[in-house]
Amino acid sequence: LSDRLGGIFDRLKGRGALNEDDVRAAMREVRIALLEADVALPVVRGFIDKVTDKAIGQEVLKSVTPGQQVIKIVNDALVEMLGSDVSEIDLATTPPAIIMMVGLQGSGKTTTTAKIAKMLTEKERKKVMMASLDVNRPAAQEQLATLGEQTSVATLPIIAGQQPVEIAKRAIQAAKLQAFDVLLLDTAGRLHVDQQLMDEMRAVSAEAQPKETLLVVDSLTGQDAVNVAQNFSEQVDLTGVVLTRMDGDARGGAALSMRAVTGRPIKFVGTGEKMDALELFHPDRVANRILGMGDVVSLVERAAETVKAEDAEKLAERMSKGQFDMNDLRTQLQQMTKMGGLGVLAGMMPGMKKAKAAMEASGMDDKVLVHMDAIIGSMTIEERAKPALLNAKRKRRVAMGSGTTVQDVNKLIKMHKEMAGAMKKIRKMGGLKGLAAMFG
Ligand code: GDP
Ligand code: MG
Repeated sequence: LSDRLGGIFDRLKGRGALNEDDVRAAMREVRIALLEADVALPVVRGFIDKVTDKAIGQEVLKSVTPGQQVIKIVNDALVEMLGSDVSEIDLATTPPAIIMMVGLQGSGKTTTTAKIAKMLTEKERKKVMMASLDVNRPAAQEQLATLGEQTSVATLPIIAGQQPVEIAKRAIQAAKLQAFDVLLLDTAGRLHVDQQLMDEMRAVSAEAQPKETLLVVDSLTGQDAVNVAQNFSEQVDLTGVVLTRMDGDARGGAALSMRAVTGRPIKFVGTGEKMDALELFHPDRVANRILGMGDVVSLVERAAETVKAEDAEKLAERMSKGQFDMNDLRTQLQQMTKMGGLGVLAGMMPGMKKAKAAMEASGMDDKVLVHMDAIIGSMTIEERAKPALLNAKRKRRVAMGSGTTVQDVNKLIKMHKEMAGAMKKIRKMGGLKGLAAMFG
């Protein structure tokens, strides 16, 4: 998405504000990105309308490109729509606090039930019991019992032949008698939404009066997930959503759809089959995933905060003339340090994971940035402007002056040469974008 937006906005350079035509053109790309991420169509429409209004007429920040700025506006709107805060589970009631899990068959209800039970036991020190009300699927109750053993969480003893509401009653009674803090009810699913399932779910809900009713949705189901959510939220009073299989190649669009359709927060994200593969929902991370762009947004944020627009412009101008001397390198290095150093940059830029590994392998870390700064500091003004002057004797002097070795000085010179070469190639792009391109 960043690439495509970059293209659209290249011709916009130098203008003061985002205008309507450009924003609309960008929104066509955003729309495609959202659809590719499996956000449901009506949700996409509502989102685009909202963001278009917001973006038109905004001033363009000097240190980022208009394309990057639109990404940020889109991202902020996504985060807001996904729910700005991490939403935790609500257990504030007379114990046992009952959590009822609902959803289609295979969505991950049973697995998630055990994961939540484990988390509440270990992290919140709660006394937790689980009960399976699934009398449809053969061995469903045994599946939960096995997971209970695995996670050291109590499960309601199985009595054959009982119906879901009866089991729920028995579970509540047992939980009260044995002073459990939390009771998790794992209900039966179906392959498709049907009335029998809905009736059963409503009856159990009426009996148990759950504090939380969590809809478990497979994030890989994409567009379908919306119909599921719609149906469930019409039948029971959902309090939250759990998205499973976010470890797969789901692009997170279901999160946006779920939130829009149910109006309920996404409370957890399942990230694997193991019992500790459960995470709190972080709207910002999912927003990034939906836009498919690593963490470009926070990089833009940092750039806006830390890199002085004038510096970036001056540098861009010099580079456009094909000039890139040691002073320019020093400015770049200082900007990198301000923005959080190599590791942070590498972690944030898409495609930079490899570059980061390479840097680590070659022993390059943030200390190196400081060393490099010292080395350039020990050069004379002429040497900085014209690094070719640096012969063996001068290198020794610079090494001595900066407390490094001639080898370090050579490394820096080599790096400068490579960067100057790269700069020529990317002349037209200034500041941040240039920086990204060097490592991308
Ligand atoms: P239920 O029918 O809704 O109770 O679904 P289950 O809990 O039995 O899960 C069905 C399958 O999905 C099992 O093989 C689980 O291990 C798997 N599963 C559940 N959650 C996740 C998840 O977050 N990631 C992955 N990769 N697999 C999951
Ligand atoms: Mg199950």
